[in-house]
Amino acid sequence: MAQNGEQSAAMFPKLDEAQIARLTRLGEERNVAAGEIIFDQGDAEHGVFIVLTGSIELINLSNGQEATLMIHGPGNFTGEVNQLSGRRSLVRCRAHEAGKLLEISRANLQRVMQDDTELGEVFLRAFILRRVYLITHSVGDAVLIGSSNSADTLRLRGFLSRNGHPFTYVDVEQDADVQTMLDHFEVRVADIPVLICRGELVLRNPSNAEAADCFGLNAGIDEREVYDLIVVGAGPSGLAAAVYGASEGLNVLVVESNAPGGQAGSSSKIENYLGFPMGISGQDLAARAFVQAEKFGAHIAVARSAAALKCARTPYVLQMNDGGTVQSRSIIVATGVQYRRLDLANLAQFEGAGVYYGATQVEAQVCRDQEVAIVGGGNSAGQAAIFLSTVAKHVYLLVRGPGLSETMSRYLISRIEACPEITVKTFTEIEALEGDGHLQRAHWRDSRTGERRTCDIQHLFLMTGAAPNTAWLEGCVALDPKQFIKTGIGAGTEWPLSRPPYLLETSRPGIFAVGDVRAGSLKRVAAAVGEGSMAVQFVHKVLAE
Ligand SMILES: Cc1cc2nc3c(=O)[nH]c(=O)nc-3n(C[C@H](O)[C@H](O)[C@H](O)COP(=O)(O)OP(=O)(O)OC[C@H]3O[C@@H](n4cnc5c(N)ncnc54)[C@H](O)[C@@H]3O)c2cc1C
Repeated sequence: MAQNGEQSAAMFPKLDEAQIARLTRLGEERNVAAGEIIFDQGDAEHGVFIVLTGSIELINLSNGQEATLMIHGPGNFTGEVNQLSGRRSLVRCRAHEAGKLLEISRANLQRVMQDDTELGEVFLRAFILRRVYLITHSVGDAVLIGSSNSADTLRLRGFLSRNGHPFTYVDVEQDADVQTMLDHFEVRVADIPVLICRGELVLRNPSNAEAADCFGLNAGIDEREVYDLIVVGAGPSGLAAAVYGASEGLNVLVVESNAPGGQAGSSSKIENYLGFPMGISGQDLAARAFVQAEKFGAHIAVARSAAALKCARTPYVLQMNDGGTVQSRSIIVATGVQYRRLDLANLAQFEGAGVYYGATQVEAQVCRDQEVAIVGGGNSAGQAAIFLSTVAKHVYLLVRGPGLSETMSRYLISRIEACPEITVKTFTEIEALEGDGHLQRAHWRDSRTGERRTCDIQHLFLMTGAAPNTAWLEGCVALDPKQFIKTGIGAGTEWPLSRPPYLLETSRPGIFAVGDVRAGSLKRVAAAVGEGSMAVQFVHKVLAE
């Protein structure tokens, strides 16, 4: 691993004698022989190993080939972000020389994180830097073979990226050596996207849940437990609830249908969130919050959706889309909203193959140096326009109304006006899409003049308002006419207790709603984070009743 000195010291710190002494009472010593495998790529059931004497080697395994990443000597330790969640290891670890190791179990590591500020910081910093290294250098157990024209390829790339899982991407359209790899795993080009998981298992066009399963992204989650709190949705509001809940000692499970980050995760740059004057990408913000939640011991299940809630009595039973159930004494609903789809006959055919609902690095790579169109006049459309103008040849921003001033923040409008790569087309509506497999043309119409235009556009971003994700709550909590969840005093007429509902509590005691899914919420990251954090205070009160 080539690193500069400072980076290397932070990524591979050496614990001093006093620090090791503090850890000794929490760990178990173990002698290892030279060449002994300490843990393998794909293993989950091990702790962090601190080298006391001798040395160990960290190895990347790719297509059965070994490559040494690092040799750790006395004072160095193993582990990266996966260690906090109990997910599988991305690398192999072998004793380079005979020696003695100290193993700290995952449970004890979590105690260190919470009780020992100095050591907690050393571990956390090293773990995060190592994960960033693994992602940027595609080290690990995943190879995705796909095509830039395939919607499922885009879905899987997005899923792995947003879950921070390192992978090597091979594009059949661009890489001449791909056939050799496909032959090696006996797959036909027609099977793509193909995911090679842990060097062996080949998944042909897997669902997100299958990919999560294969990489053990949900390892370490106990479904038999009755949780203090289940948070449904891991957008900003759900992640905030998880951080506050877990840090205050609650046993918290988060259930997320895709990956942490929610809508914010699809934003290239959030500039108005307090504390980030230079802006932060939604994915970075989510990745930090995810590690923070895991540091405090929250369990986060990804690629699993809440399908229904049995809410007649406590503990409440959450039914998942895969048939599993989990129980909890309280629930925070943080399922946010999803973009409205345009009413176009063949829209579904182009989703992921020219039509997108988020503008992140993954989509940007696909439309580099090409013309793109964005539909929508809100802040998310404005951000996407500015972000995509840095990579695309030209950006058309299509708005139904007379301009942007009513719907978009002033700072975004100014930047759009100053950017020659963006053209705003007012009074414009998309009428039809055309293409063979991938979007090739869009037809739009000027609603004032009736003039119609056909544009050779292969990438269309739809950012046109949103509807709440509340269908799974049917019959459990009161909703407003637009299906957002009512909370607090006005939550509903069927409130069963003598005390009034707490702020953010729904019409069902112990079930709270936060963030964009809540009726009357502000639809901003800061508001979502604030509500997620606040709700935990009321969860404590409910649990004490
Ligand atoms: C492109 C874009 C740019 C934005 N830019 C900004 C900005 O610059 N500043 C700002 O303040 N705000 C911005 N916003 C708005 C901000 O992102 C939202 O207000 C915020 O994300 C709301 O957070 P949330 O947690 O309430 O919901 P969401 O972010 O919508 O998250 C909800 C989560 O719940 C999950 N989910 C849904 N249904 C289920 C289910 N049944 N089971 C399990 N999980 C489920 C979803 O997958 C999702 O991860 C932007 C939004 C977008 C789309």
